[in-house]
Amino acid sequence: MSGHLAVVGLGPGDARYLTPEAAEALAAAEALYGYAPYLDRVPARAAQSRHASDNREERARASAALGHAAQGARVAVVSGGDPGVFAMAAAVCEEIEAGPENWRALDIEIVPGITAMLAVAARIGAPLGHDFCALSLSDNLKPWELIERRLDAAAAAGFVIALYNPVSRARPWQFGAAIERLRRHLLPSTPVVLGRAVGRADERVNVVTLAAADAADTDMATLVIVGSRETRVIARNGRPPLVYTPRAAAEVSA
Ligand code: SAH
Repeated sequence: MSGHLAVVGLGPGDARYLTPEAAEALAAAEALYGYAPYLDRVPARAAQSRHASDNREERARASAALGHAAQGARVAVVSGGDPGVFAMAAAVCEEIEAGPENWRALDIEIVPGITAMLAVAARIGAPLGHDFCALSLSDNLKPWELIERRLDAAAAAGFVIALYNPVSRARPWQFGAAIERLRRHLLPSTPVVLGRAVGRADERVNVVTLAAADAADTDMATLVIVGSRETRVIARNGRPPLVYTPRAAAEVSA
């Protein structure tokens, strides 16, 4: 079968964050599928069709793109950041597993991108310098109890925690509830990095403490990094602080 489907990561923001490999995959596509604001980031090309859909329609979008590729077309599905991090690559795999046999014969290519937590971390120092984990606070696809259990386990195990999808219009309370949960395990002075729209014109990165972290500081375009016991803040005169987690971990008993 000649059909080709690329799942392409656009990176967190403007074109500087798009890898040359991703740019090539986009240029080679006959059809582009994705959430409209992500498609808007891709320069228009003649003879390339565009299929915009709502952010909540991942499975339907994946299925439409696979069906199109199965007709022999060269199709690209776009994702913000990296397509494998809380995004389209897994939705495409789910559809392939559940779908018709001929979808398994397609040429599938996942093109990585810079995910939000790496872009935010780089802006402020090296908060992910030692062991870390990433969680989505969206309870659209999993129960809130599971999120709480994972927050407890991650904080108790000493991971730095990157939080994707801290809030949305439909989920206003999740970030506040997560912070309250983390306060059970972590010191009030634990550094919390709030990185908003990183890589875009309206980028904003702030460092607060766990005691001061507030849901009003976040929105759908914010990625939050909650430090571990070991994460440190270096204050600098007239410059933004550096937040980092040292390369060496403390004693096991700590
Ligand atoms: N695939 C994406 C993540 C999709 S989930 C990636 O790899 O980055 C969407 C969440 O990602 C947002 O709610 C926010 O938490 C985070 N995010 C995406 N772009 C961001 C940016 N430019 N700055 C900060 N956070 C961002």
